[in-house]
Amino acid sequence: MAIDMQPKSRRVLFRTRVGLGIVLIFAIIATACSKRPNVVLVTLDTTRADHVSALGYERMTTPHLERIASEGVSFTRAYSAASWTLPSHASIFTSLLPSEHGCGLGPNADSPIVPLRADVLTLAEVLEAEGYRTAGFIGGPYLDSEFGVARGFEIYDDDFSGSKRDGREVNEKIFDWLDSRPEEPLFLFVNYFDAHGPFCPDPTIEYPFGPQPNPDGSSYDSFSPGNAQRTGQHLPSTPDEIAAILTRYDQEIFAADHWLGELVAHLEGMECWDSSFVVVTADHGESFGERIGKTALWGHGYWPFASQCHVPLVFRPPGGMKEHRFEGPVSNADVFLTLLLHLGIPPPHGIQGRNLMDSQLLDGPMEATTAIAEETSARGRGIAVWSQKYQYLQIAEGEPARTRELLFDLRASASDGRHARARAIEKKSAMSESLKATGQAVLDRLRARRESMMRARTGFIPPMTSPQSAGLTGLPPDVRKRLEALGYLR
Ligand SMILES: [Zn+2]
Repeated sequence: MAIDMQPKSRRVLFRTRVGLGIVLIFAIIATACSKRPNVVLVTLDTTRADHVSALGYERMTTPHLERIASEGVSFTRAYSAASWTLPSHASIFTSLLPSEHGCGLGPNADSPIVPLRADVLTLAEVLEAEGYRTAGFIGGPYLDSEFGVARGFEIYDDDFSGSKRDGREVNEKIFDWLDSRPEEPLFLFVNYFDAHGPFCPDPTIEYPFGPQPNPDGSSYDSFSPGNAQRTGQHLPSTPDEIAAILTRYDQEIFAADHWLGELVAHLEGMECWDSSFVVVTADHGESFGERIGKTALWGHGYWPFASQCHVPLVFRPPGGMKEHRFEGPVSNADVFLTLLLHLGIPPPHGIQGRNLMDSQLLDGPMEATTAIAEETSARGRGIAVWSQKYQYLQIAEGEPARTRELLFDLRASASDGRHARARAIEKKSAMSESLKATGQAVLDRLRARRESMMRARTGFIPPMTSPQSAGLTGLPPDVRKRLEALGYLR
């Protein structure tokens, strides 16, 4: 027995050692695999998709985003959930539609803003709970921590004077933080505000198109579409005037992309870039005189028109991937769920959306997807639904509420080129009864889907935002001043 036992014991020991070794190897691999990637989420404020060269715009406005998109997935028809900064970011941060998170405009000038409710979970809170070091750096006043969007960020840099700060200043703050070598994994949120009016392109940047900005200013420098319409300033009307404004706007997009490129280079220098999961999108676009009937639209933040909600959306997973484009309508509020699923984090109760990196979606039919945007305020409610073929827009305003419906046939402008679509479709105001019925059917289907989803997850349908009953905030004087300088709150 002893003789037999010896070799057996050796064999057992050997197997044990081999097994232990295998276990150790697996443990090492598992440890390496369980180290989650950094997450870099960038919003290019006020950047409409059809002015982004990474999505096909003829002017080279975004060479750095082009490079990112060449190693990831870009969505040519992504829509923000709202047409202005605060509710749109709140949707990106919570996965919820504006009527669900309730953050946005308040009822009057004394209580103009409804902040993000304290009981709504944010992306930063989830990542912080998962061990991420979280930091946010912003360039505009509507992302002030006053409005509840800083929750979950260990560091939130919103301390600046003036109505906006450019990407150069934002990057200085980011690099200070990165250079302190915070322990990874990191969640870095950046809002480059450059493309938001007033348009004052940085004259130290060399632009590949248009006249170099005059450091002393010219008639079109400092033009702000939203501000001009609100304050009754002269609005450009001739093709030359509009072209000059668009050049300034495009230069501001180029500037934001320039700062994005600087950020990429810094992360590469730290050997953090390649291992990061990167998301680049925008919170909304900008209207430049597009017409709805007799009304010319300027700026953003009124109703969810395509020119104000069609935004870029690009994912680049760690290590990059073969370039992929998806041309069906999607919502950038789905960033939350997509990120969690990619990181292997179980989505908490109530998180909505779809996984935009799912191969079944990316290789599936474009007809299968839809996107929704909303505007809800004391003024009324607007809801937009984009399907593959149509944009349906329903606006209810006034007391008693008067409901208007608009339907745009997206195919009607196909000859203008894909990226002119957002501008072209809004010029089409005529609507046949059959198209109208189709649009209503799309909306009914989406409503039913949303309601069943909400019932399944939370047991109730969230009420429409009622600014009178929601928690309101009085604005601190400095925040109010900055918003007024940008043309809001008048
Ligand atoms: Zn914005």
